[in-house]
Amino acid sequence: MDVSNLLRDAQQRAARYLDGLPTRRVFPPESDRARLAELEFDLPLLGMAAEDVLDLLDDVGSPNTVASAAGRYFGFVTGGSVPAALAANWLAGAWDQNAFAPVSSPIAAKLEEIALGWLIDLLRLPAGSSGAFVTGATMANFAGILAARHALLTRAGWDVESQGLFGAPEIRVVVGNEAHASLFKALGMAGLGRERVERVAVDTEGRILPEALPKLDERTLLCIQAGNVNSGAFDPAGPLCEAAQKAGAWVHVDGAFGMWAAASPGYAHLTAGYELADSWALDAHKWLNVPYDSGLVFVRQPEDLAGAFATRADYLIRSDQWQAYDYTPENSRRARAVDAWAALLALGRAGLAELIHQNCLQAKQMAEGLRAAGFEVLNEVGLNQVVVAFGNDQTTRSVIAAIQESGEFWAGSTVWHGRAAMRISFSSWATTSEDVARSLEAIERTCREVRI
Ligand SMILES: *Cc1c(COP(=O)(O)O)cnc(C)c1O
Repeated sequence: MDVSNLLRDAQQRAARYLDGLPTRRVFPPESDRARLAELEFDLPLLGMAAEDVLDLLDDVGSPNTVASAAGRYFGFVTGGSVPAALAANWLAGAWDQNAFAPVSSPIAAKLEEIALGWLIDLLRLPAGSSGAFVTGATMANFAGILAARHALLTRAGWDVESQGLFGAPEIRVVVGNEAHASLFKALGMAGLGRERVERVAVDTEGRILPEALPKLDERTLLCIQAGNVNSGAFDPAGPLCEAAQKAGAWVHVDGAFGMWAAASPGYAHLTAGYELADSWALDAHKWLNVPYDSGLVFVRQPEDLAGAFATRADYLIRSDQWQAYDYTPENSRRARAVDAWAALLALGRAGLAELIHQNCLQAKQMAEGLRAAGFEVLNEVGLNQVVVAFGNDQTTRSVIAAIQESGEFWAGSTVWHGRAAMRISFSSWATTSEDVARSLEAIERTCREVRI
């Protein structure tokens, strides 16, 4: 089979897959999962025909996916892929560009520059900010923290990129008690230590209490978040950033999904004050609804990111143009900006605002339906997150397990204020209010069954 026929075959299989998503089980049943064993064979000496490789992948692989691209997946914080982004991703796959610099791909570099510019504007970040696409918010947190490390230690007269951290002036790290797990992973990777942090008390929604903030200084990295992964709540950025600015501290924002609220007029007030921070981490694969993987780091002063990451080698041509590899931990990388550029252009400002608005309405619809059915919604539903308990911990866990196994919809479990709970997260363009109604029915049905 030639390449065009092979790609046509892939296109037909993909279309069939997407057509079947709304009616299939969200998580694959055990009977399908058992078929994964069919893939366990030794790598053959002679290669298989490409069309047979694709056939095997579709036959065993497609049924063993999680239907997270469709409307009834509420696990973690998961976006689908808007059609324009998926199609652009396919074309970019054919391009196979190395997106490290204009010299390796003029189009990838241009689209990254343009998409970043649009996003800085949409997210109401300070003019003059810059950034880069990375794999996800974990790496975006890592990149932001390394920019902070560079800036704080440069001011202290220490060249951390050359000299490392042994013997360096100490950096204090202050985090909210409800910071996301990925932030601690990033702090560990940055050599600042997962546990060498000062934790600040939070309120019942997980928001940092400004009055509990310790005294900051010019050697402090303060990490705040826009969007608690359970409650969806925002730290009070205004007072926190003002205190940090006065002290000369650096503020890094983990805004993986919450910062997207800035792009929707009805929710932008939640991100007020965040523009005063120094670095921001976001996920495009969450609320922008582009294919995995796609994260974003932004910094107020581009030179702080470049200080941490700029690469020097004789064969790498210097250029006055923006070059991704000066701003990211990676050098070679895929052209992620293509997907994001296509999603942004296809949605427009109004489309992205509406997508965010709809998901937040769906969260409200879900919360109201759950309360009406007599269940306990444990968080203030102000964004896209609903945390709910179905009785005692054991019942809640049984209901979650039964729903996950039923395949009607998928939502994960969490512990909130010491109680087992289901966390239901809305961030997909594919979710409809019918999906919410159907999922509510599934919850009521399952609860009746579990309680019997
Ligand atoms: C999802 C999430 C992350 C981690 O993002 P990855 O894309 O998995 O790397 C970090 N912080 C918050 C608040 C998140 O919701």
